[in-house]
Amino acid sequence: MATSSQKTEVIPSALHTLIRAGRCPHALLLAGGNDRDRKKTAETVAMALLCENRESAPCGKCRACAKVKAGSHPDLSSFAGTEKAHTVGINIIREGILSSLYIAPNEAQRKVYILHDADGMTREAQNAFLKTLEEPPPFVSFVLAASGTQKLLTTVLSRCTTFNLGEKEEKEGAERDIAAALAAALAAGGEFELIQAAAPLQKNRRLVRKTAVFLQGILRDAAVADVHAPALSGCDREAMLLGKKLTMRQITDCMQVLRDIIGYADKNANENLLLSVLTAHLADVIKK
Ligand SMILES: [Zn+2]
Repeated sequence: MATSSQKTEVIPSALHTLIRAGRCPHALLLAGGNDRDRKKTAETVAMALLCENRESAPCGKCRACAKVKAGSHPDLSSFAGTEKAHTVGINIIREGILSSLYIAPNEAQRKVYILHDADGMTREAQNAFLKTLEEPPPFVSFVLAASGTQKLLTTVLSRCTTFNLGEKEEKEGAERDIAAALAAALAAGGEFELIQAAAPLQKNRRLVRKTAVFLQGILRDAAVADVHAPALSGCDREAMLLGKKLTMRQITDCMQVLRDIIGYADKNANENLLLSVLTAHLADVIKK
């Protein structure tokens, strides 16, 4: 059997830091990687959220951890899609999750719902889940596990904090350099710097989208920079700088702007529009 320290290695370290600091986002999306690892990670995250030893969560030894291991913790509910197609229908969302949502936890501080095969949710199921994902009761945490994010609605994605379990996040490529330059421009606080940094994105919609995704990663790292979580984006310096210069509110607002841009890009908006939204809306956020 795996020891507790082996077990905790499966949780991305930034997420682990957030859980221990008691600042875990209420809706997590674990995306990519293989089925077995993803399943194990989702369960370990649930264990960490329910563990009685905050400092060393998941300790693997307390009563809560033991119950999670045995599959008998009353505050943990797990759901998955159908056996072959991995489809998650609206009935699972309604009857499995929404119907019990407001019932207080039994013995832990919170309740955890794991949804495996989250990308198998039908459109109907995703729409039924939206409002709850945005504002669950304060004692509820969602851990969604998905092989990829393509089948998830942008509105669902925008309500989750995504951790990529796949290959290491791409560190090469133009989008990294441009995202890093945009991050530096955000920290410098000027629209002119943003326009300059975004210049290489002209006439390349795909690159705008990829850069927006990468910049989200840097901002996510910036949000946890004060708790000394390692930067998953590989842009430690930029993340640290942004963490110092921007308020948490500004970081969240910037991430919202990027989500909008990714949404527009997916709807085939033209790159001029994307670029002007990127520079103007980000500039608005840092001016506030
Ligand atoms: Zn424990």
